[in-house]
Amino acid sequence: MNNLISSKYSDLNFNKREQDIANEILGANPYNKEFISDKLQLISEAKSLSSALITLFRQQVQSGFVLSDPVCDKQKKSKYLLDKETGINFCLQWNPNRELRLNHDLLIERGVINTDIDQELLINRDDNEKPCYLCSQNIDIQNSIEILFPINLSGIKYYCGANFVPITDNHFTIMSEEHKPQNYDSTLILSMIDFVEKTNGVFKAIFNGKAGASILSHLHLQGTTEKLPVEDMNISDHDMIFSDSETRVYKPQYYLPLFILESESVKSINKKTDQIIQNWRSLNPHFHTQNIIVLKQNGKFRVFVFLRDTRKLKGSSKEGDMGTFECSGLLVLSKGILDTTNHSTEERGLFENSNLDTIKNLLKEIAPEYKIDVRDLI
Ligand SMILES: [Zn+2]
Repeated sequence: MNNLISSKYSDLNFNKREQDIANEILGANPYNKEFISDKLQLISEAKSLSSALITLFRQQVQSGFVLSDPVCDKQKKSKYLLDKETGINFCLQWNPNRELRLNHDLLIERGVINTDIDQELLINRDDNEKPCYLCSQNIDIQNSIEILFPINLSGIKYYCGANFVPITDNHFTIMSEEHKPQNYDSTLILSMIDFVEKTNGVFKAIFNGKAGASILSHLHLQGTTEKLPVEDMNISDHDMIFSDSETRVYKPQYYLPLFILESESVKSINKKTDQIIQNWRSLNPHFHTQNIIVLKQNGKFRVFVFLRDTRKLKGSSKEGDMGTFECSGLLVLSKGILDTTNHSTEERGLFENSNLDTIKNLLKEIAPEYKIDVRDLI
């Protein structure tokens, strides 16, 4: 048990007491949610929130709730393509386990969902009578080994739960306590910044507006510790379209409209980000949406805002909607097969045969059309 934490998570730098608690968590009966939650709280208080979340993710991998370990999933493959124009090292990820996420029957078969329960207790059913997957009350009842870590983000209560079909290591869903739709409002950026701040920048926060979120009935963010390709993109002073004493806004050359904001001030970067998003949305309230990433680097917050349109969610050669991960240069592909004669189908074919132009075209295809100079959004 000791090795599990120390070999992969040596950077957690636990002292003897913290390591002992982590070992108790990993050694506990996975159905004993209360014991594990209490111990995670101890790690969060004694060490840090990020250490508690990373330990929780390991525990959820070990218990089998996370269906495949993102750091050693034998089915998962990555292919990198460096784009010299933007400086981005694009990544195509073949991740067939992602397909399990919306297959209710398979989730029952794999033990993620327990059906031997009182169905009457489940709340907030959708049009197909499926109870909401993100309501904590439902999770407590029907997901016997899923553990939620409560967190307060800018005065709003959320729960962090490991994504059971992760795209990256330490991939979390951060769901609001309240069952309310996946709508943008001005408090959202503050919650994202607060999550990044509370994890000392170890985690970044992601929000799919109505572009890429698979559950639109319940507000949720995502968190991950992994670097996203777009973080390394070339930005020069020529790309700067706004600056004041606190915040800089860049509009770099990219294949879909992207703003990058940088600031040490929470208040200032929140105000500027919200202004851009509100202006974009007001141009066409029915269709305009956005993908957002918030992270902290060298003491500065960085916010990435990708402008999106719900009429352009898919690229022609990729089946699923393109969300924040795709916009940031990590293209997740999960449908189709590669058979023994090297014949590939659906997205597996895209994984096998794509080159840099394929990726650029996919991004261009989801770029919204607009008639204004986007600089006017500031
Ligand atoms: Zn819900």
